[in-house]
Amino acid sequence: MTDRNDDLFERARTAIPGGVNSPVRAFGSVGGSPRFLAAARGATVTDAAGREYIDLVASWGPALLGHAHPDVVEAVREAALRGLSFGAPTEAEVELAELIADRVAVGEGRPVERVRLVSTGTEATMTAIRLARGYTGRDLLVKFAGNYHGHSDGLLAAAGSGLATLGLPGSAGVPAPVASQTLVVPYNDLGAVREVFEIHGDRIAGIIVEAAAANMGVVPPLPGYNAGLADIAHENGALLIVDEVLTGFRVHSAGYWGLQAEAGERYSPDLFTFGKVVGGGMPLAALGGRADVMDKLAPVGPVYQAGTLSGNPLSVAAGLATLRAATPQVYARVDAAASVVAGALSAALTAEGVDHSVPRAGNLFGMAFAAKAPVDNDEVQAQEAWRYPAFFHAMLDAGVSLPPSVFEAWFLTAAHDDAALERITAALPAAAHAAAR
Ligand code: PLP
Repeated sequence: MTDRNDDLFERARTAIPGGVNSPVRAFGSVGGSPRFLAAARGATVTDAAGREYIDLVASWGPALLGHAHPDVVEAVREAALRGLSFGAPTEAEVELAELIADRVAVGEGRPVERVRLVSTGTEATMTAIRLARGYTGRDLLVKFAGNYHGHSDGLLAAAGSGLATLGLPGSAGVPAPVASQTLVVPYNDLGAVREVFEIHGDRIAGIIVEAAAANMGVVPPLPGYNAGLADIAHENGALLIVDEVLTGFRVHSAGYWGLQAEAGERYSPDLFTFGKVVGGGMPLAALGGRADVMDKLAPVGPVYQAGTLSGNPLSVAAGLATLRAATPQVYARVDAAASVVAGALSAALTAEGVDHSVPRAGNLFGMAFAAKAPVDNDEVQAQEAWRYPAFFHAMLDAGVSLPPSVFEAWFLTAAHDDAALERITAALPAAAHAAAR
């Protein structure tokens, strides 16, 4: 039986490549028609056929407070009444830059001295890399297999989730000379990083790493890993770019960096990238870091970056309202909700005798059909991923919307109340049973 989602998917495929505006949305790795969403509020989304689901995608992260939080919607509405886009500086964007810098400070550490606002995480990482190259006068970049930093040319090599789901090694259309500037190294292996620095050290501008890898499922850094990367970079005159597009302001008010700093792991990233939560569901991302590095950006320095919609007033309003509402209680609530769902997920799979792990990075968690939590992309790829489609569709049939790929994190929000958590946990046993077959 088809429904309105099927009809729309068929129609979409003639108007839009693959029917979607971002590949993972097409349900390619789980099969079936994606749900075309008509509305999202709190912990739920409603599809074009009028069916409601408890949502564990959260727009891929931004909806920390839950969808359409009243404070955020009101801030955007008020901003819209004053004008949709100015292409000029505003007081609100200064406030957001200051707020980001203040939030990322932990103890004595104030690693973000300047902030530049852009519109997408892809732009933030692309600019951070150009800046690292401009600052150091070097060309090469180290990235990790399975880490995703957006879709700019040099960053698509071995880039995790979307590409893992599609089974592509990289992307067509990236010139070989561009790809050759990216050195891809296994994640969570400091020895491998030292090796590439021994060979190419004086040509490496920087290392880019997800603060906690969450685009190949969730693979947290081993203890001391991020700090070790900072040491290696700095010993060799290179910069460390910590990509917090996904983790920033989601797992802690100061991002994963803040979570680690609080736990006693202190190190100094040179640049950070932020996105998702920082824009509260509107197109906004940011890069920030040391003043001497950031001041290489135009118009002060020689590294060019610009954007018609950068610092868009509606996006800035949503970001400010979201960060202001993201109190310690919000993080405590999301952490607790994550514990409930992660615990119930593991219990359901254990009851069915399915080998699994539920790796966590703060309130972010994922699932892997492997008894031992993967520590790198090879281990992620070795899991029994074929079990996921049946699991996913059983949850969807029960009214719970999961990410349509096993290589994605699950996102809880502060709006997941007891009733929402109950619907998720009630659906898990049947889904685990489906995965066991
Ligand atoms: N960096 C990380 C860690 C991400 O998870 C993502 C998106 O998922 C990006 C960068 C790219 O952000 P965007 O999709 O806004 O371009």
